Amino acid sequence: MAAVKQIREAGVAAALTNHETIDLAKRHLVQPWPCAGEIGAEARSLISGGEGIYITDGEGKRLIDGPAGMWCVNVGHRREELARVMYDQAMQLSYNTPWYTMNEPSAVLAERIAAYAPGDLNHVFFTTGGSTAVESALRFMQFFNNARGRSDKKLILSRGGAYHGSTYLSASLNGRPRDRDWMDGADELVVKLSSPDAFRRPEGMSIAAFSDMLVAEFEETVRRVGADKIGAFIGEPVQASGGVILPPENYLPRIRKICRDNEILFIADEVVTAFGRLGHVFASEDVFGIDPDIITFAKGVTSGYFPLGGMVVSERLLEQLRRSNHPTAMYAHGLTYTSHPVGCAVALTNLDLLEDGILAHTQAVAPYFQQQLKTLEELPLVGEVRGIGLMACVECVADRESKNPLQLDTNVGMRIDAHCHELGLLVRPLINMCVMSPPLVITREQIDDMVGILREGISRTMDDLR
Ligand code: PLP
Repeated sequence: MAAVKQIREAGVAAALTNHETIDLAKRHLVQPWPCAGEIGAEARSLISGGEGIYITDGEGKRLIDGPAGMWCVNVGHRREELARVMYDQAMQLSYNTPWYTMNEPSAVLAERIAAYAPGDLNHVFFTTGGSTAVESALRFMQFFNNARGRSDKKLILSRGGAYHGSTYLSASLNGRPRDRDWMDGADELVVKLSSPDAFRRPEGMSIAAFSDMLVAEFEETVRRVGADKIGAFIGEPVQASGGVILPPENYLPRIRKICRDNEILFIADEVVTAFGRLGHVFASEDVFGIDPDIITFAKGVTSGYFPLGGMVVSERLLEQLRRSNHPTAMYAHGLTYTSHPVGCAVALTNLDLLEDGILAHTQAVAPYFQQQLKTLEELPLVGEVRGIGLMACVECVADRESKNPLQLDTNVGMRIDAHCHELGLLVRPLINMCVMSPPLVITREQIDDMVGILREGISRTMDDLR
């Protein structure tokens, strides 16, 4: 408790040394995604500040924030406009119960989001983040079919490589083996499809044929399981945590059509891709030409300054519910922080910043970002660099010809991250991959710095492995 006294006297930021903070964390803090042997004893690097595309670590070292936190700090760190609106809104109204009262920021934000959403998606339910957004969308599908007398139509199709969250149902959809190896899930509700990872497509197959194969698998699954049993398909337009997996051309519109023909709700999980990452507020229609039934979002909606997420639902679905035989059936689903006034006020100002130049800037720098990262394919350790907008992945391989994956214990991602940290860049290591998704305000010069450091970090890793 000595630390508490110290903090009370000096203020949080000034009170503790780097080592004291890490020591406290080791003794009391559980970090996300810990391994059994580390729970309660693991403390990762301390981050103490941020500005623009940079963060500062506990030693005072400035680093480029390569992953923008977790794909979320879209407008960059230390935006005074966002800090101010948070303060102003908290002083005006810090909270109201979302059950039988409402507030102005959430109504205005819902209207602005509806204006950007494709098709007839015009009603927004706000949550506390991405997992709760996905959970809300899936529970909505269950409710939708129950209320319409189709209680058998509730299975969910999801894909290998997917990441949809860490609540029970959302996590049941995850397709990365590591996410499910030691964790239970609602497996009886989920039907898994192949990952759309074209880098790992069968040898000798063209990308067009790979796309055909995925679509055929989808059709065959609907036939085998039965359209009357399947309630929804959920997919990230670009699989983010799975390694920035881009959908093969035309694949998403074809899946969309099959869903429409079979009354399977198409849920686009845009937790990462919405609010600027691909240069648009939503990517479904503007980038991929699809109009989902539901879109989930989070992260960039407040640029990570406040925990907020949500789902946008089609008017057509609501109309079907209004006309159902059970008008008193209740969507018994809500969160204490649904429509949080402070979160929604932050999101409104964040949207102003995106509209007032950051979306246009993202569209302008994205091709340069992709082009410069692509040059890393010259390095023998790099199997592929792929990406879109301001998100990209560098996938390392043991052998470029065979694309053989590296052994897990080579820890390539962690090694590259450690070297890059030394050199001034935080990367997001994913086993044998490094994912880059910097704040959208990154300039060309800063992209050069980022790619230069990453190149050197990979070269040093190649030296380690010799
Ligand atoms: N969906 C996608 C596509 C994500 O990438 C994530 C998180 O990374 C989530 C859902 C879960 O969001 P959250 O961590 O805010 O619960």
